[in-house]
Amino acid sequence: MPLHAVRADNSRMDETERQGRIDLAAMFRIAARFNWHEGIANHFSLAVTEDGRRFLMNPQGRHFSRIRASELLLLDAADNDDVIGRGAGKADPTAWHIHGRIHAARPEARCVLHTHMFYATTLACLAGYRLKMIDQNAMRFHDRIAYDEDFNGMALDAAEGRRIGTTIEPGKSVLFMANHGVAVIGRSVAEAFDETYYLERACKLQVLALSTGQPLNVVSDEVAEMTRRQWTEFPLDAALDHFNAMKEILDEEEPDYRD
Ligand SMILES: [Zn+2]
Repeated sequence: MPLHAVRADNSRMDETERQGRIDLAAMFRIAARFNWHEGIANHFSLAVTEDGRRFLMNPQGRHFSRIRASELLLLDAADNDDVIGRGAGKADPTAWHIHGRIHAARPEARCVLHTHMFYATTLACLAGYRLKMIDQNAMRFHDRIAYDEDFNGMALDAAEGRRIGTTIEPGKSVLFMANHGVAVIGRSVAEAFDETYYLERACKLQVLALSTGQPLNVVSDEVAEMTRRQWTEFPLDAALDHFNAMKEILDEEEPDYRD
């Protein structure tokens, strides 16, 4: 499938888009630091209109560690033949389909982070595996993970994107994609980042626990659900604090992500 060139869009950039560009660019830099990226592949997106129709996404061919706010493409989910938007470079039509459909299916899911990060993807490659409730980080995701078992090769069209979009039902924020990777959605970049971080931590611990060959000490559903509630009802905005702490490091060491 050919890549689409982006035609300049002269509409005024509003504050949502301006701030969104900075946050999403920061997210790419953070992902590179945590080694969640895969070469120049994988895509993150952020809706900038209420209906989720317009969203920001990374241009083809840019390494996550170098992405700048101004380069992010502004795309329209309903119009993926004739590209509109602003940014630098070209759009990967496959990612456009998938992210566009997810934003359309779940407009409250402002930010979509798709990665092949090692530990979560390892578990997504185990037959019928469900995240086991064996530590606090895993319990954060109790009953909040959707599982897509149908790997049919690379997702190349809108129908596949729509299918993935509707598999993440309301209440779920993570999609395990069998034989492929994971997608995490959030109401903000900060929230999606924090979820992705704790998901990979939980999965890493789980892979290590499985590697011992010892029986897993799985807690009851009640305990797992109570712990999940404790996570989500935590009074401080820990996700935002976490994201801002990461941005503080970027501001000191690689502030050009804001350009
Ligand atoms: Zn993928």
